[in-house]
Amino acid sequence: MSVVSNLEIVRNNIEKACKKSNRNLEDITIIAVTKYVTIERTQEAIEAGINHLGENRTDEFVKKQTQINNDDVNWHFIGTLQSRKVREVVDKVTAIHSLDRKSLAKEINKRTSKPVECFIQVNVSGEDTKHGLHPEEVLNFIQEIDQYENVQVIGLMTMAPHVEDEQVLREVFRKLADLRDQVKEKHLAHAPCKYLSMGMSNDYEIAIEEGATHIRIGSELVGPYDK
Ligand SMILES: *Cc1c(COP(=O)(O)O)cnc(C)c1O
Repeated sequence: MSVVSNLEIVRNNIEKACKKSNRNLEDITIIAVTKYVTIERTQEAIEAGINHLGENRTDEFVKKQTQINNDDVNWHFIGTLQSRKVREVVDKVTAIHSLDRKSLAKEINKRTSKPVECFIQVNVSGEDTKHGLHPEEVLNFIQEIDQYENVQVIGLMTMAPHVEDEQVLREVFRKLADLRDQVKEKHLAHAPCKYLSMGMSNDYEIAIEEGATHIRIGSELVGPYDK
């Protein structure tokens, strides 16, 4: 299927989820995750009207960005970020969705001269295979990185478990939203924490109903692809 037709379906679903939860369409940013697709398919997504792209590997990120070479595109880094790779991407990202440790915050701070927008990755479900801070660590962590003036915590990010059970998904998203509210209420200059990066191809409607502001969609938008 073309990205245009995929996008039409996704937008329709987003609209429904917004109506159901009394939210505004404009408050949802669609990030097309292009990690498994070619430059041509990525280009097709841009031509379809998508201007937020997500990549999860630094090499691929840099390569795609260079080849696409389009200032209208916002690039999101959504994968595990190794400290030694920070300098390659830090001035090229709209946001980093995977801040998960102090050493990474320190490195980001050191490698740039202007604030970088970051989401703290939270392992809400507690699965061993998932990266991210445990929910109870987040408030402390935010205090600890207060010293890094180039790290701006704009929100929280999570990946829900790969399950069909809607109730389980809802609980994960709700927990992240609650945590976001707790941080936001503190009115910290370095952590406005307004946003929620949650929801992927198989759970974005639920994520939106639970407050997602940034959804990261791969297969449903630029796929199908084999995972
Ligand atoms: C791959 C990936 C996505 C998109 O996954 P789909 O299921 O294809 O939509 C979203 N977020 C992260 C962090 C990813 O690595």
